[in-house]
Amino acid sequence: MLKGIGSSEGYGIGRVLLVKEQSLEFTPKTDCNPGTELERYRKAVDEFCIKTENMAERMKATVGEKEAEIIAGHILMIKDPYMNGEIEKFIEGGQCAESALTAICDMFAMVFSSADDELTKQRATDVNDIKNTVLAILLGAEETDISAAPANTVLVAKDLTPSMTACINKENIAGIITETGGRTSHSAILARAMEIPAVQSVPNATEILSDGDMVIADGSEGIIIPEPTQSQIDEYTEKRVKFIEERKALSAFIGKDTITADGIKVELVGNIGKPDDANKVVECDGEGIGLFRTEFLFMDRSSRPNEEEQFEAYKKAALIMKNKPVIIRTLDVGGDKDIPYLEMKKEENPFLGFRAIRYCLKNKDLYMTQLRALVRASAFGDIRIMVPLVTCVDEIRAVKDMVKAIMDEYSASGIAYNKDLKIGVMIETSASCLIADLLAKEADFFSIGTNDLTQYTMCVDRGNADAAYLYSTYNPAVIRAIKHIIECGKKQGIPVGMCGEAAADKLMIPLLISFGLDEFSVSATSVLSTRKTISDWTKEQADALAEKVLSAVTEHEVVEILKAE
Ligand code: PEP
Ligand code: MG
Repeated sequence: MLKGIGSSEGYGIGRVLLVKEQSLEFTPKTDCNPGTELERYRKAVDEFCIKTENMAERMKATVGEKEAEIIAGHILMIKDPYMNGEIEKFIEGGQCAESALTAICDMFAMVFSSADDELTKQRATDVNDIKNTVLAILLGAEETDISAAPANTVLVAKDLTPSMTACINKENIAGIITETGGRTSHSAILARAMEIPAVQSVPNATEILSDGDMVIADGSEGIIIPEPTQSQIDEYTEKRVKFIEERKALSAFIGKDTITADGIKVELVGNIGKPDDANKVVECDGEGIGLFRTEFLFMDRSSRPNEEEQFEAYKKAALIMKNKPVIIRTLDVGGDKDIPYLEMKKEENPFLGFRAIRYCLKNKDLYMTQLRALVRASAFGDIRIMVPLVTCVDEIRAVKDMVKAIMDEYSASGIAYNKDLKIGVMIETSASCLIADLLAKEADFFSIGTNDLTQYTMCVDRGNADAAYLYSTYNPAVIRAIKHIIECGKKQGIPVGMCGEAAADKLMIPLLISFGLDEFSVSATSVLSTRKTISDWTKEQADALAEKVLSAVTEHEVVEILKAE
């Protein structure tokens, strides 16, 4: 068994077709006739553009408009005055077309691949793809004809470029295996769009697997099984059939409202950690963002992001979501979330200590920077601010005062912001649950963080294996807490959402419907399955189940009742 990254879900079973690297070797020349070389280069670029345009047209029909745009973007790249100008300058200096093209493309690829963000890094793959295709034209090199692959083919390549992917006939390609790439690479985006299972970053796949070998590519788990046994083939064939049936059923929910079987509409939004993750939520048909965990902006770096960086990140998420709600949680550090450069003191009880809003209110400079960025970004969409780990009214009042001061300053200096910016409270402690009626008078909305609410209600560390038997949302104590919070929010007329894992739990969803939860915030990949589960229940059925659950005495009884449905 080989391990890689599952970048497109599903199970591909078939025979290997190795996508061989074309030989793009050439002898560099530096004393060429610039006129002749320029003519060769420009002719090759023209041919590249025609080829790429045709490919984009084909892809529009077979894969989709968005994916075709990726390919069409290569034309803009090669025609980019800077890149193209540099190549021609090298040719004018006496280099052959092949050398000039390679030198400049390699330089661009190096710059892109050293960028911090994943999307810019991917541009390096695009530049390499352009370079190889133009080189192949210049050299008259032969390509593997992917479009002629027989049924049940599993493509195996070092890297599958967008232009190779464009030749795929998705009826015949059962799976894709590559040695490079990950979930955000273009080949992964294209594989997902074509619903072809893909496993990427499998070391030495092109050496281990040979043409004609039987192979299983498990894109859900990121596993490759070379030369599977008959029983493995049977097992995976069964998995494949089930997966396809489930996917078919789920895709029927794309573009649909999130409603119960008797027509009660609720909101279904996504949880993200970085602004780019919002694209995934859009892809999965989420109706907004219910939790942007901003601590991810502070991680994996040596100093905190400044106001401008944060502003750009929040604005980006808002723009991607195009005026749909984007709930951004202010910095939630401490407990299990350590950020070394903040130099937080070692504590006896970190989960009960100086964390989240407590830390932020004592580090006003850091918190003001974040709030200033958030208020400014609110001019670009429906951004809402959410405060984590609140335990008393004073905390939310303090945040509101800080936001008000920022707004007054921005009004005076003419900086745009949303005057109706909503500020909500995350209910995830037993204290905030018990005073939910009081907090509801201060907050514009609630979002229940069941991951922590379970921890603090049951007094059990989220990560302690010995006490793990108590860490369950099905405990009557946690269920009562959730019901109470929703009731308090409703009584005060504010919306109540849930952004903990329980919002996507098939067993919990009917209870949440019965209690009247307004918004479900789940990971992007759970959006459609959550929409489906919600659609399976009427309020009456959910109420009947809730009544039974609320009369149960133990966690075990609750689980039994929920599973019996
Ligand atoms: C929660 O506590 O439920 C939650 C969503 O926050 P986190 O998991 O980031 O603590
Ligand atoms: Mg939490």
